[in-house]
Amino acid sequence: MGEVLLNIVDVSRSFIAGEQELTVLKNINLQICRGELIAIIGASGSGKSTLMNILGCLDKPSAGSYFINGQDTSRMDDNELAALRREYFGFIFQRYHLLGDLTAQGNVEVPALYANEGAQTRHEKAKKLLTRLGLSDRLDHKPSQLSGGQQQRVSVARALINGGDIILADEPTGALDSSSGEEMMKLIQELNRDGHTIILVTHDPHIAEFADRVIELKDGEIIADKQKRIPVKANQLSTDQQASKTSKKINWSRYLEALKMALIAMSNHRLRTFLTMLGIIIGIASVVSVVALGAGSQQSILDNIASMGTNTIEIKPGTGRGDRRSERVRSLTADDANALKILPYVDSVTPTVRTNVAIRYASETVTGSIQGVGTEYFRVRGYALAKGQYFADDSIDTLEQVAVIDANTDQTLFPDGNALGSVIFLGRLPVRIIGVTKPIQSVSDNSDELNVWLPYTTVSGRIFRQNYVNDITVRIDANVSSDAAEQGIISLLTMRHGTVDFFTINTDTIRKSIEKTSETMTLLISAIAFISLLVGGIGVMNIMLVSVTERTREIGIRMAVGARQTDIMRQFLIEAVLVCFCGGALGIGLAYFIGMIFTYTGSSFQMIYSSTSIVAAFACSTLIGIVFGYLPARNAAKLNPVDALSRD
Ligand code: ADP
Ligand code: MG
Repeated sequence: MGEVLLNIVDVSRSFIAGEQELTVLKNINLQICRGELIAIIGASGSGKSTLMNILGCLDKPSAGSYFINGQDTSRMDDNELAALRREYFGFIFQRYHLLGDLTAQGNVEVPALYANEGAQTRHEKAKKLLTRLGLSDRLDHKPSQLSGGQQQRVSVARALINGGDIILADEPTGALDSSSGEEMMKLIQELNRDGHTIILVTHDPHIAEFADRVIELKDGEIIADKQKRIPVKANQLSTDQQASKTSKKINWSRYLEALKMALIAMSNHRLRTFLTMLGIIIGIASVVSVVALGAGSQQSILDNIASMGTNTIEIKPGTGRGDRRSERVRSLTADDANALKILPYVDSVTPTVRTNVAIRYASETVTGSIQGVGTEYFRVRGYALAKGQYFADDSIDTLEQVAVIDANTDQTLFPDGNALGSVIFLGRLPVRIIGVTKPIQSVSDNSDELNVWLPYTTVSGRIFRQNYVNDITVRIDANVSSDAAEQGIISLLTMRHGTVDFFTINTDTIRKSIEKTSETMTLLISAIAFISLLVGGIGVMNIMLVSVTERTREIGIRMAVGARQTDIMRQFLIEAVLVCFCGGALGIGLAYFIGMIFTYTGSSFQMIYSSTSIVAAFACSTLIGIVFGYLPARNAAKLNPVDALSRD
């Protein structure tokens, strides 16, 4: 007899079935040598498959020891057992157990993948084996496109790809017709002659004829062990087949294949995958758009405020914005404006008198906003001169009939560009144009409004005949606290009027409060969006759990051919992350689409997408994949190979 390869010592295996314990294997002792061809026979239920599973390290004995090549398997952890399955054993099952999603070649390559074989070698080996088994024209066929005999030969090729020192075949001919069965047995004999140790389980005495040694089981005990012939001297397995056992380096192939498997699984359930993604898509799209919307509206409001002047305080008559009587309050005068100039932190001041009268030039009549202002108006509002000049203090004193117009009016009335020096009529008052301003960047100002500015004395003296002003605008020094300046202005005017018959609007305060409200809004809506992401994540977890249950048999097969727990875990985790990642990408796409629609519908402002929110959205969706994919992935990895395999 040759060297003992597998040594089973006093092995028992019992199962807990409900209340009672069922002992399926009782004190089995069995030595198997290299190069043997053994048949284990026995009636159905005698424990053959249970013994086979223990031999193949798919199952562990309840008592006793099992040595492989002298190594005690009871001392090994799950990963080492997976390595043994990968490196020593090749399994052939009664029902073939091929992966339905993969081609014949893909199926054969699976064990090599887990053994860290490079893609090139893997392809070549698989092709060579399939060719040898007469399947060279079936490489790209899925299992469902192959006959039973062909499927079984694919599974033989799979058993051989990592060397297959010991081939364990559980009823390999059980599902085949008699001629394919005979062929299969001839193939097995041939492999045995090539040096493979073969253990096959059968209930068919005819099949057992092919074996050199027949072991008979009955009720979990060996009742006969007949050596029919001495095995032909086994060949040493070629070195090529041994080589794969040494490769230990990190192989990105396994990650790539896991990614491929995830894509296959996703595309096999497109609708389900999409519906799962939908939660993530909606969540991410809403987070990104809400943030963009908030940023956009905030920006537009701030632009508006900026266009009112950098740091200005407006003083209006009345008690507040909603005061209807403020039109009739005539307390503010140009003298108030002049008085404010003495305050040290006041940069510039202008009173404003407003009216709407027809503007006429030649045969053209338009309506526009006529404003009587002080000389500092343009500084307060931040206007710049395009051509000509502003009116000076003289013009104020003499009620001069001169005007500065804005770029809009210039274009409307003087398309030829001859505005300077021309005389226009405001109502019946002729005024000469002395200056044109540059367009000002403002989002809110009706950009098509026409503005004509005159000295305020001209408006109140020659058009209105009134001595009060509509409002006063103060620009304060940039480095002064606007709140303090506001207080100073209020107390000065209160002193002058003897009562508070005016109110102030401080752009700085408005800006601050807008910033604060929009921050709060963003936070609030983001919280809602976050909840929707959470719900999406739970959806992903749910579907992944279903997926694990559905693919239990696949997991069993993968474990039988040597997948580590980490391999299984990785596969499902990658799938979950991929679903979430794609969902995140689609969600961001959707957010941009919403932004486009938003712009098309002619809203007054644009959504502003910040790269931070997009990166955060991606990170968030990927994280959801990891967090909610972890539990299902771990469930899959913790499955017991035997249980998983027996599942339908
Ligand atoms: P066979 O010789 O037909 O292959 P098995 O080894 O599959 O027999 O099963 C032997 C006995 O062990 C059967 O009676 C079966 O019901 C029982 N058995 C096998 N696996 C389990 C299990 N996981 N839990 C409980 N009983 C089991
Ligand atoms: Mg069985």
